[in-house]
Amino acid sequence: MASFLHLSEEATRKAFRTALREWFAREQRDLPWRRERTVYRTVVSEFMLQQTRVASMLPSYARWMEAFPDFSALAKAPEEVVMKHWEGLGYYNRARNLHRLSKILATHRGPFPKDLDFWLALPGIGPYTASAISSIALGGVATCVDGNVVRILARLDAEEKTFTNSGEAVQFFRQAAEELLDKEHPGVYNEALMELGATVCHRRKPACMLCPVRAFCRSGLEGKAEGIPAIGRKKTVRLEHRLAWWVVEGKVLLRGPGEGRSRLGTLYEIPRWEEIFAEPPPTEGKAPRQVRHITHHHITEYLYQPGAEKKLSDNLGPEFRWVPLSALPELPFSGPHRRWVERCL
Ligand code: SF4
Repeated sequence: MASFLHLSEEATRKAFRTALREWFAREQRDLPWRRERTVYRTVVSEFMLQQTRVASMLPSYARWMEAFPDFSALAKAPEEVVMKHWEGLGYYNRARNLHRLSKILATHRGPFPKDLDFWLALPGIGPYTASAISSIALGGVATCVDGNVVRILARLDAEEKTFTNSGEAVQFFRQAAEELLDKEHPGVYNEALMELGATVCHRRKPACMLCPVRAFCRSGLEGKAEGIPAIGRKKTVRLEHRLAWWVVEGKVLLRGPGEGRSRLGTLYEIPRWEEIFAEPPPTEGKAPRQVRHITHHHITEYLYQPGAEKKLSDNLGPEFRWVPLSALPELPFSGPHRRWVERCL
């Protein structure tokens, strides 16, 4: 458990918070959910920002707000339409949870509570997101601790401990984070710390000379921030998938929404060769390829275009269906499979 001896005086902590807050007021990025602050906009931005960078989610955020301006509009939308609007953001469980959550919140009467328990009981909301929504949108006194915040805290204290994983690091710094929280301006403080992590205190090459809190930071002053914190990473798993883009008479065989597909649920995908054909996939010859990364998995996909005479597997599940090529632009695909579809069309 960390506790910052050099930030233990309340006067020093106050100076730290003020420096951070004033920098944020001056330098914060102009982001759409900051222009008009509502609970709904904060919730959507926090869901989209889980595992996605700001620059990559901005176009999706704008499209989303146009299609679903509030909880009620989102609650009424069919799941396939919601998934279509999430295209490109990945990790589709977030969209599914956001949709489920909107159905609960659309019927909520009266102001939303700051209470963390209220938010934690909703689908897809963990301690970080609950604290972010409560503090940023409602002024609740709640501390946000994620990888970005841990990186800053570890550097402030020049923490040399090696952590097995980021969960352990979050636990280690939680109490120090709570002690440092600006209880008078919790939302601004949390957002400022997130902004500092995203724009100044980068994992690689932190811009210490531009940092508003360098005077309080041991690593920054000693020039040894890079490499802190030391967190063990999971070993990369390399996989190869062989996909079959099988077109017969203007229709392509796709794997659509079906039972037992919790990760991709309502999305369409190009099937893997061995899912639809009895014979093994080709391993020779040049096929177009595409690389995707999912957490610590490094997946190389090869795309084959078999001839119409191929024989289908006898065990084809009901989720495999023939879809006219003209219908593909309207169907929801995962980002990498949308790129395949565009290449093939
Ligand atoms: Fe991060 Fe450097 Fe600022 Fe310290 S001085 S908080 S290491 S950017």
